[in-house]
Amino acid sequence: MCLLNKDKLSARLAAVAKYVPQGSRVADIGSDHAYLPIYLAKNSGIPFAIAGEVAAGPFHSAEQNVLAEGLSGVISVRMGDGLEVIKPNEVNCITIAGMGGTLIASILEKGKEKLGSVTRLILQPNIGANSIRKWLLNNSWVLLAEEILEEDGKIYEILVAEHDGEPLKPYESNLEAGLLFGPYLAPEQNEVFKKKWLGEKRNWQRIYQQLEQAAPTPEVLEKKQELLHKIQLAEEVIGNENT
Ligand code: SAM
Repeated sequence: MCLLNKDKLSARLAAVAKYVPQGSRVADIGSDHAYLPIYLAKNSGIPFAIAGEVAAGPFHSAEQNVLAEGLSGVISVRMGDGLEVIKPNEVNCITIAGMGGTLIASILEKGKEKLGSVTRLILQPNIGANSIRKWLLNNSWVLLAEEILEEDGKIYEILVAEHDGEPLKPYESNLEAGLLFGPYLAPEQNEVFKKKWLGEKRNWQRIYQQLEQAAPTPEVLEKKQELLHKIQLAEEVIGNENT
């Protein structure tokens, strides 16, 4: 699903791996086949990793892969929900990839007490990156870097955060737009970014048109207002083009 084999990561996971500092002690939460920690152990010289999984099937697949690679001494495969698989002070870097942004934010929120020793978070939401940006800001994590990429027709974002610094600094020019579009991605505006937000804008416009036919209840009016606001924000960021 996610990559061709354990040595050649998908572009998405390779982009996540790039931000793991050399020598990190890593927890990869929702590790599935444990491809990311296996790659890091073989290519980035990490001394220790946890592959955390909540579901039995992926957990067993991670166990088998780690064993087959002869990496059981480096990668500890653990079954559990979110950050509960981490013992205090065991890791300094956490990766969470391939889930929705709301789920990633809720995993971080539930496991907050495990973050004391963690200096870097590398988070790769499939959708809803804004939920993660809000969580990071509310919990004093500083967004350091962002990437957006397309692979196999899907668009992914990668958010990298550290604990030191000024969390509001990346959002100085516009907090609301920064949280939604990404304070680093929006000014850069690469082709993938434009494609994503043009698609989102069209979707909001389509829903808005449908709501024009609905009875004007307070909920419908509120939803229309919200959509209009998001459409305007998108136009401010990517312009008014429709192709
Ligand atoms: N991280 C891998 C990647 O990016 O290719 C796998 C992504 S896969 C789509 C999501 C994985 O997260 C699934 O194996 C799922 O069981 C696991 N997962 C979902 N919620 C979780 C949680 N609360 N704690 C641990 N694992 C979780």
